[in-house]
Amino acid sequence: MIRVTLDLTCSICDHDQFFLPVRAEERQQIRCANCTAFKCYSADLENAMIALSRDRMRDKKKHSGQGRPGQDRANAA
Ligand SMILES: [Zn+2]
Repeated sequence: MIRVTLDLTCSICDHDQFFLPVRAEERQQIRCANCTAFKCYSADLENAMIALSRDRMRDKKKHSGQGRPGQDRANAA
């Protein structure tokens, strides 16, 4: 198992580090590095990460659409 920090938190203890399996016989299970609670299968995790990055891209677009170029600030200075 390898220990990694993910953009997910354990549903039990809110820890953000998880053990990822490196061998096939570990059945691709993700476990919390703190309380060792079973989190999910790596396939599910992959889907969750993809969903997360999709949400972030959507947020970035929203913010950049509202942003103005820094002309106002330059004039003030
Ligand atoms: Zn945990």
